[in-house]
Amino acid sequence: MAAQKLAKAGKKVIVLEARDRCGGRIHTIDKESFFKQAELGAEFIHGDLPATLNLLKEAGITYYPATAEMWRYQNGLLTRESFFADDWHLLLGRLNALNKDISIEAFIEKQFRGKKYDTLKNTVRKFVSGYDTADPHKVSAFALRKEWQGGDSDMQYRISGGYGVVIKYLEKEFDMLALEGLCTLVPPSYIENFAEKYPKTFNALKYKEDKWKAKWPWRSIGDYYIISFKKKSNQNTGDDN
Ligand SMILES: Cc1cc2nc3c(=O)[nH]c(=O)nc-3n(C[C@H](O)[C@H](O)[C@H](O)COP(=O)(O)OP(=O)(O)OC[C@H]3O[C@@H](n4cnc5c(N)ncnc54)[C@H](O)[C@@H]3O)c2cc1C
Repeated sequence: MAAQKLAKAGKKVIVLEARDRCGGRIHTIDKESFFKQAELGAEFIHGDLPATLNLLKEAGITYYPATAEMWRYQNGLLTRESFFADDWHLLLGRLNALNKDISIEAFIEKQFRGKKYDTLKNTVRKFVSGYDTADPHKVSAFALRKEWQGGDSDMQYRISGGYGVVIKYLEKEFDMLALEGLCTLVPPSYIENFAEKYPKTFNALKYKEDKWKAKWPWRSIGDYYIISFKKKSNQNTGDDN
């Protein structure tokens, strides 16, 4: 969306992506495994958010009020669940009383001692790392308090056809320039100290990878990707942005 705005303002924009698709944590799979679209990431518009709703209006994409139930499939059984742990109200209450900002990990460790709060603490950790992609040891308790307090008061919406249609709309305005696969040959960073331990092998693999990374099939294989896009020519300015 930022790229679209910059390009509309006549700026040159290149979008770099670390995956072989656009959208990041917005990822709708369409009838691949389910009878209709399924969201692997963002699903709801949490409230009357002008930036999102204006973009939908511009794209002619409709949305509708959302209701939801939560179900878990485990060991062949479907069970109904609540969105938040039973002690969530207690968590919000104690967060509200917090005067000095600390990390959410420090907060739950301090405020919820003992095994009986393990479920609550693990829910917080999973939610923060999964939903916010934040590190519980670093993320501000004040920031999460603000996010969680506002959560239920607004109307929630779902986008017709899934969040992915917004990405498709934005993508239409760009041409793909290049796709490169990274760590197709070079071991990825989670294999620690490989370069230091085996410098010769590392350099040989890196040399080959640098040569091949933008070529088929290596550009579509890898632990990470760089996709470069260019805004299609802009009819308003005559520029090739
Ligand atoms: C399961 C789940 C459910 C969610 N539900 C909702 C919801 O209902 N409503 C809602 O509003 N939000 C929801 N969110 C949050 C929402 O998806 C994110 O806030 C939003 O997508 C963030 O967008 P972003 O562009 O800032 O970051 P991201 O979507 O994370 O995009 C960042 C992009 O940068 C790329 N990248 C990372 N490092 C590099 C690098 N070094 N070089 C090049 N590219 C790089 C990544 O591949 C990624 O594509 C949910 C998130 C998850 C995970």
